[in-house]
Amino acid sequence: MTMYWEQHKCPECGEPPVATVESLEGLAQLEPEEEGGGFTYGGYTEVEWDAQRTQRDEDGKDALQCENRHLWYSLRLLAPRVDTLPRIVIEVSKGAVTKVTSDVPVEVRVLDFDTEEKVPVFVTVTLDPTYVAEVGSEGGG
Ligand SMILES: [Zn+2]
Repeated sequence: MTMYWEQHKCPECGEPPVATVESLEGLAQLEPEEEGGGFTYGGYTEVEWDAQRTQRDEDGKDALQCENRHLWYSLRLLAPRVDTLPRIVIEVSKGAVTKVTSDVPVEVRVLDFDTEEKVPVFVTVTLDPTYVAEVGSEGGG
């Protein structure tokens, strides 16, 4: 299975991930004691491999680790990230644009048709390469 991540290099040292951080379940075998009705560990743990899961944060991002044991979380992608093209990320929540980020200066126009006047509302934002535009409906529209 080929995997890709949005943040495919460690934010601390720039190295690629060498591992996902996984959660496992194990069944530690027990031995009954000869007397007293108690138990001791039998010295063997059976790993439930079907229960293995990649650890994720509350946003569903995978836990990744670089060779220097730095931990970070990143969204898993369906296709490889293309570093040679400018990137514009549009975040949508419940059908509304909530945030626009861009690698390059861009003009963002939000056309909001969900107004009582039934005319589009134009919100124009010019982004610097590092600027994050918070897009919200002005005046509660
Ligand atoms: Zn690192």
